[in-house]
Amino acid sequence: MKKLFSRREAVLLLSLLLIAGALFLILFLLRGEGDGEWDAVIRYRGQTVARLPLDVDTEYEFECEEGVNRIVVRDGAVLVESADCKNQICVHHGTLVPADADVDFISCAPHRLLIVIERRGSE
Ligand SMILES: [Zn+2]
Repeated sequence: MKKLFSRREAVLLLSLLLIAGALFLILFLLRGEGDGEWDAVIRYRGQTVARLPLDVDTEYEFECEEGVNRIVVRDGAVLVESADCKNQICVHHGTLVPADADVDFISCAPHRLLIVIERRGSE
């Protein structure tokens, strides 16, 4: 009887370990997924006009009454490839990556355009 009881205990313990392992795996996977999800957020006159996932290479032509900016997402970074604004500051900025999310942004003042990087689901 004593042996049977300890086997039951062992099964219980194994089950608990499996559950703990599964929970750990789920948490790990969720966290890993969260780390990769960043969006380039395009704002015009303070309004969000587009969210471009940084994990999908894409091109976005932003048009407003002030002009046009050609925004490109490539290899997890966003940049303004070309624009018809006077100062070209947005084009000369170069790429913006998630590591810069808290300290940097691309702005095109003549077009009242702002590009920031945000974690997906943060808005
Ligand atoms: Zn510009």
